[in-house]
Amino acid sequence: MKSTAEIAAQLDGYDPQALPAHAVNAFLERLVEPVTEVERVPLFEALGRVLAEDIVSPISVPPHDNSAMDGFAFDGTQLVPGLPLMLKVIGTALAGAAWRGSVQAGECVKIMTGAVMPAGLDTVVPQEFTQLEGDRVRIPADLLRPGDNRRFAGEDLMAGQPALRRGERLGPAALGLVASLGLADVAVWRRLRVAYFSTGDEILSLGEAPREGAVYDSNRYTVFGLLTRLGCQMVDLGVVRDDPVALEAAFRSAAERADAVITSGGVSVGEADHTRAMMKQLGDVAFWRIAMRPGRPMAAGRIGAGELVQHDAGTLPESAVRYLQAGKPPTNAVLFGLPGNPVAVMVNFLAFVRPALLRMMGADPQPPLLLRATSEEALRKKPGRTEYQRGLVTRHVDGSLSVRAIGNQGSGVLSSMVQANGLIVLDHEQGPVAIGDPLSVMMFEGAVG
Ligand code: AMP
Ligand code: MG
Repeated sequence: MKSTAEIAAQLDGYDPQALPAHAVNAFLERLVEPVTEVERVPLFEALGRVLAEDIVSPISVPPHDNSAMDGFAFDGTQLVPGLPLMLKVIGTALAGAAWRGSVQAGECVKIMTGAVMPAGLDTVVPQEFTQLEGDRVRIPADLLRPGDNRRFAGEDLMAGQPALRRGERLGPAALGLVASLGLADVAVWRRLRVAYFSTGDEILSLGEAPREGAVYDSNRYTVFGLLTRLGCQMVDLGVVRDDPVALEAAFRSAAERADAVITSGGVSVGEADHTRAMMKQLGDVAFWRIAMRPGRPMAAGRIGAGELVQHDAGTLPESAVRYLQAGKPPTNAVLFGLPGNPVAVMVNFLAFVRPALLRMMGADPQPPLLLRATSEEALRKKPGRTEYQRGLVTRHVDGSLSVRAIGNQGSGVLSSMVQANGLIVLDHEQGPVAIGDPLSVMMFEGAVG
């Protein structure tokens, strides 16, 4: 396991006071390791989980040549250009009930979608193109070529072929694919356990009476939402007072119970609170000013197993003292120390924490697919930092997409985050944006998810 100093030494242009956003991803990629424990789960519990095995198809899908249409199956060598074809209907093949007789020239079999193709037949004429004349069916001239409307056995997957790779995060289509192979369960990495808490003396828990200078804790709720979408197991440690004992207890119990710890608040340089000090004391943590907006201050590393802290007796919170006195052996977890500002929390999560957590979950995270839309307005932007602006993408009647920055872009303003449907990503090198320039947008919702 590399220390944060060793990782920093490996990175080109590592300047903790002006760290480019891509260097943060490179750092975190080296910091985290995937979980090792594997479990077998039934398919209905596997959505969003990460495959721990390659899945090789035990059967061919579909298992037989079959019809793609409701219609009449026949031997396509009888088709003659320019001439219609008259065939006698001698039987019916249903899905799940194959027709087993033999078929001579001039004959056909009525067939349903999915029914096994009768022996020797390779072509299906869809019912809507035919005319029935007594027990005979008329196929118009030049409508079909031999082989039309027949699906081959194994055209989806051949027995013995790899169907899904280890590291694949199972979405709805993958669940269906596994089921189509007849497999009822899959081996996946165990769920990632993530503990989170908010820090700051001005932060109120829901249910507390408002008081001057205090704000309600929103970060735990956005982090909860983001982690739920990732399928993590969560340990919610609430709001932790700016008190060394409370913070030590929170960090240690978080590290003991989880693989990763996410905090918000207390990591900016000017902070007069104990959060940074405790992170330094209990872990190996790097503190950054990232060249981005929002989300400039951030800390990351490992935390939990550092030297025990000598606290002043007297004002110690009782539950924290009980926890610390239990004398459990300290353990380490990966720490993501996010800024306090609510939008910065979400942006840093999406840009940095999410890919790192996916890696810990055993997946190989791909950069998000960005949508391209033309800018409806000029945007101010200085080269030398990455900016994420809340954007509203509009789809026009001709199918084209345009985007504008929406609402107040302050890093604490969540209402504009709700109004937006994505984040406009302005790269490190990008300068000012003119009307009509193409922009990249990270959309909040995908079609399947
Ligand atoms: P900090 O990073 O601790 O300097 O906090 C920056 C700003 O974010 C301050 O205005 C805090 O009041 C606010 N803030 C910090 N934590 C939270 C939270 N959990 N919920 C809402 N606002 C917060
Ligand atoms: Mg603070």
